[in-house]
Amino acid sequence: MALRFYNTLTQSVDAFVPADGRTVRMYTCGPTVYNYVHIGNLRTFTFQDLLRRWLAARGLVLDHVMNITDVDDKIIRKAMEQGKTITEYTAAYEKAFLEDAATLRLQRPERLVRATEHIPAMVDIIEGLKQRGLTYESEGSTYYRISRFPEYGKLSRIDVGGMRAGARVDVDEYDKDNARDFVLWKARKDDEPYWDTALGAGRPGWHIECSAMAMQYLGSTLDIHAGGIDLTFPHHENEIAQSEGLTGQPFARFWMHSEHLIIDQTKMSKSLGNIYTLRDLLAMGYTPEAIRYLLASVPYRKKLNFTLDALAAASASIDRLRSFKLRLETDRLPDSTQAGLLERTAEALRQFEEALDDDLNTAEALGAVFELVRDANTGMDAGELGRGNAGPLAEFLARFDAIFDVLRPTVAEGAISDAEVDALIAERTQAKRSRDFQRADAIRAGLLEKGVVLEDTKDGVRWKRK
Ligand code: AMP
Ligand code: ZN
Repeated sequence: MALRFYNTLTQSVDAFVPADGRTVRMYTCGPTVYNYVHIGNLRTFTFQDLLRRWLAARGLVLDHVMNITDVDDKIIRKAMEQGKTITEYTAAYEKAFLEDAATLRLQRPERLVRATEHIPAMVDIIEGLKQRGLTYESEGSTYYRISRFPEYGKLSRIDVGGMRAGARVDVDEYDKDNARDFVLWKARKDDEPYWDTALGAGRPGWHIECSAMAMQYLGSTLDIHAGGIDLTFPHHENEIAQSEGLTGQPFARFWMHSEHLIIDQTKMSKSLGNIYTLRDLLAMGYTPEAIRYLLASVPYRKKLNFTLDALAAASASIDRLRSFKLRLETDRLPDSTQAGLLERTAEALRQFEEALDDDLNTAEALGAVFELVRDANTGMDAGELGRGNAGPLAEFLARFDAIFDVLRPTVAEGAISDAEVDALIAERTQAKRSRDFQRADAIRAGLLEKGVVLEDTKDGVRWKRK
C-alpha cells in the first residue's frame, strides 16, 4: 500500500501524494526562541525529521520551511525583564536551538526563516484581509472577525455557535473555551518593540507570522503543515482563517500533529521541576543517539512517556544493533549464502517500509529490525550465515539508519571514540587472521594519524592515545 498519513483536517488516514507528484511543500512551526528547547519540543522536531527522511526515502523532493518565532508575548516579556532588545535576547536561544538540532541529527529544513524578517509580508496579508472585510480595528490594534469566516473551527472542530460577536483576545495563546476574535496586529504599547507600518505602529500577533512565511515561500496551498498537537487550536485554526480568508484556497492539504511527550506519566512543568532540556540529559551522561532513538521509537500520534529507564533501554537497543553490525563486518563468515535468511532479510525490509508508509509507524518498523537481527545473530552463532547474506543485511541496516540515524556514535570534537578504536582493532585482528596484511597495516597507520598507538603483545592488542 502506498504512503499514507493521518490528516487532522479529515480525521482519517489518507493516501499522500504531493500536489505536483514530486515536491513536498511542507511548513512546520519552529521554536519560539525564548528559552532552551525541552525534550517535548524535540520530540515534535524529531517526528518532523523522520517525516522528512521518509518522504525523501520514498523518492520525493523536499521544500520544507521552518520558522523561528523571534517575536511574541513571551519573548517581549523576557527581553524587557533583562533590559535587552528582542534580537539580543533571542540570538543566544536561536543558536542553542540550532546546536541542539544538530546534536540530535535533525536535518536542516531547506529554509529556516525568522519572523522579524517578514513583517512586510504580514502587513500585506492583514491589509488584504481588511479589504475583504474580515478585520476590524480597536484602539490601534487589528483583529480578525471570525464570524465572517464560516469555516472557522473546521480543523479543531470547535463550535463557535455560542460565541459572543465582537469578543476579542489580545494574547497569543488561549484555549478552546476562549474562542474569540484574535489579534492580527497589536498596537504599540509603552516601551515594547514595534514596527512603523501602514497598519500603524505595532507588532504582529503570533498566528499571522506563520501564514505569512508559509505562503511567501510555498504558495497558497501547502502539501503538509505540521506541528505539535497543542498548536491545533488556536494557532493552526487561526492560520487557516488568515490564509484561506485571503486566498480562498485550501491552505494545507495535510495537517499532521504529533502528540505530547510526558514525563513519568505527568505533564512537564516548571513547578514540578521535571523539564529536561537536551543539555540536561547530555550532562547526565546520556548520548544524543539514545535520546534520538527514544524520541523516534514511539509512533508520533501516541503520547510518549519519557523515563530515564526508557532512555537506558534505548541505549541498550542501539548497542545491540551496533554489535550486530560489528559482527557482520568482522566475523569470519563462510563463503556461502543461506537462502532462508536471504528471504527473511527481504521480508524484513518490506515490513520496515510498509510500517513507515503506514503513517510513520516507527514502533513496527523497529520491530521488523530487531526480529531480523535476532534471526541473523542465530544464523551467525550456528555458522550458517554466509558472506552472501552479509551484503543484504548491511544494506538493510543502512536503510534503517538513513531514517533512524543512531548507529554512528557521537564523538567529541574531532576525537575518535574508544568504541571506534576497539572496532578498528577488531577489524585489524580479523584482517591479519585472513592474511590481509595490507588492510591491517592501513588500519594501524590510520589510527596513528588520529593519535592512537597500537602495541601487539602476547596477550593481544593494547592501545593508547599519544
Ligand atoms: P514552542 O517553542 O513552544 O512554539 O514549541 C515548539 C514545538 O514543540 C511546537 O510544535 C509544540 O507543539 C511542541 N511541543 C511543546 N510541548 C511539547 C511536548 N510536551 N511534547 C511534544 N511537543 C511539544
Ligand atoms: Zn506556526
